[in-house]
Amino acid sequence: MTQPLLKIDDLHVHFHTEEGTVEALDGVNLEIYEDEVLGIIGESGCGKSVTALSTIGLLQSPPAEVVSGSIEYAGQDILRLSQRELNNIRGNDVTMVYQDPMTSLNPVLTIGKQVTEPLRTHSDVSASAARQQAIEMLEACGLADADRIMDQYPNELSGGMRQRVVIAMALITEPKLLLADEPTTALDVTIQAQIMDLLKELQEEFGMSILFISHDLGVISEIADRIAVMYAGNIVENCTMRELFDEPLHPYTRALSKSIPSLSDDPDRLPVIEGVVPDLRNPPSGCRFASRCPQYIGDVCDAVDPALAAADGSEKHEVACHLYTDIVDETPPADWEHLSAPSTGASSRTESGESQ
Ligand code: SF4
Repeated sequence: MTQPLLKIDDLHVHFHTEEGTVEALDGVNLEIYEDEVLGIIGESGCGKSVTALSTIGLLQSPPAEVVSGSIEYAGQDILRLSQRELNNIRGNDVTMVYQDPMTSLNPVLTIGKQVTEPLRTHSDVSASAARQQAIEMLEACGLADADRIMDQYPNELSGGMRQRVVIAMALITEPKLLLADEPTTALDVTIQAQIMDLLKELQEEFGMSILFISHDLGVISEIADRIAVMYAGNIVENCTMRELFDEPLHPYTRALSKSIPSLSDDPDRLPVIEGVVPDLRNPPSGCRFASRCPQYIGDVCDAVDPALAAADGSEKHEVACHLYTDIVDETPPADWEHLSAPSTGASSRTESGESQ
């Protein structure tokens, strides 16, 4: 079988704060293959961004500490690389697009200076050749009049144009893996749809892999081949997009799916997942979703942390829940509705109340 481009194995990350140690990642396992788009969905604070930042050693330490686990990129152990070796990978082989383009761009440098910088840093290309490549990449990212934009500053562009510039910066070195951390969240719905279309086109054109992070199931369904559902520092379900919509297994995934508002919902009361996320300074020893789980099955949920394992009938559909382990002999109730994939721009609401 093909080796994954990125393999995260049993990753535990803690943050040491004045209020205590936050156990932010609790044994995350992920694999991304070449030319694949993996979506990570979950509410704010569930560990999506921490997972992405860990991948290229961008977590600030302290307060962050990778306590255990491994991250392998193209066969290299990321956690054992020197700073110089890491710098050769990030911004070159692995690049990142953040949520807010204004925080990714330096307001006092021209667009041209910023888009050409990754090329100038990672190759011997001349200034004129770098400029020409930057213009071509800006055009590929849908920016007409790229030659003029090269000499402008970020504040002279609209939010959508700035995000296209940030995408051009991330792609100019032709990376093998793009980490996209909520790249459309700060944009209005029309621009969001354009940026999603652009990312899909560029992914196909360049054949890169993408780790796409979002709290919006509608957005993520537009681009992902597979999806990992995160809750409170754990991956609780990992499957194809089709499997997620046809047969979500984990109670959290089901609740998340049902919380997508529809036109028939009472507008005064949007569906939410009752309860709150556990305090990760003192997380439960068993299932982290137990206090909110509508399918809670008793003491085993509080006592034993369920491992992510293949669900019956599909080795590729993994779930972390005792409903699917040998610990209990109980099949999940069939009281949930099968779902259709939301259309472009569909909104979803997480339990934290975020919506788009
Ligand atoms: Fe619910 Fe128990 Fe499954 Fe956790 S392990 S999701 S509490 S049924």
